[in-house]
Amino acid sequence: MARIIDGKKISEEIKEELKSEVLALGEKGIVPELAVILVGEDGASQIYVKNKERVAKEVGISSEVMRLSVETSQEELEKIILQYNADEKIHGILVQLPLSKHIDAKRIINLIDPKKDVDCFHPENVGKLMIGDARFLPCTPAGILELLERSELLVEGKNVVVVGRSNIVGKPLAVMLINLGATVTVCNSKTKNLKEICAQADILVSATGRAGLICEDMVKQAAVVIDVGMNRDENGKLCGDVDYIHVCDKTHCITPVPGGVGPMTIMMLMRNTILAAKNKFVI
Ligand code: NDP
Repeated sequence: MARIIDGKKISEEIKEELKSEVLALGEKGIVPELAVILVGEDGASQIYVKNKERVAKEVGISSEVMRLSVETSQEELEKIILQYNADEKIHGILVQLPLSKHIDAKRIINLIDPKKDVDCFHPENVGKLMIGDARFLPCTPAGILELLERSELLVEGKNVVVVGRSNIVGKPLAVMLINLGATVTVCNSKTKNLKEICAQADILVSATGRAGLICEDMVKQAAVVIDVGMNRDENGKLCGDVDYIHVCDKTHCITPVPGGVGPMTIMMLMRNTILAAKNKFVI
């Protein structure tokens, strides 16, 4: 019988730890503050930002959401980033992606002060992560590693297969796993023999956005399966990349969708914001 890795419960535990950290900072007169910039009316982005605001409040982090019209220009957005960079009160800056087509997202990310880059997308932070000297850990990969660690699932020496090579999930997760001593294979949409490769994994992570991609015959008996996907099935119901019903019993542990990786991502953002506030006072 598979053990379900309860991301909601684990994220609640972390929330309590973070609350204590915020209280301790408060005693030193420091209130971590996160600035979130949302451009346009995209429905999913609005929900993500609302959730970030809600969780920040629960943790005791002050958050400021700047909601901008879809017509906001590159120059206007850059000006706002520079203002937040210079603002001593703001510890973390997050630009909700994706941005409209007329905005050069790379330029925007590169403009964020790396010390305030709580999403860990700035090239300086990505480089530091690569060499094992991370300032921040990217939120979704960090959430996955927390789930594993708090479920007492070691990655060192394990064969880990990561399906997906995005800059947000697959690639940074692979780097972090390598740094932890796992043997990592990263797959993508061009991978040949995906089934055979996945079936070798002690730990299989899928981050593709393809509902039902990971079927029973792709999973080794007693493997650990982490499902990052957030998709809608034909009935509009939230589901992951894994054919959960058929895969579940074969696994040692598995994350559900919803209630697996999702709640962890937001909590890691809060952790990074607190870290940014602390870092400001170190040195
Ligand atoms: P991207 O679309 O940026 O990347 C998807 C990756 O999956 C690509 O590398 C792509 O390969 C690969 N892929 C697609 N189809 C296949 C296939 N048939 N076989 C093998 N590989 C395939 O997505 P993200 O990384 O941003 O997100 C992935 C999923 O995770 C989405 O469902 C997203 O909603 C979810 N997500 C969930 C989060 C959470 O907190 N739970 C946070 C972030 C994302 P190629 O590069 O060759 O195109």
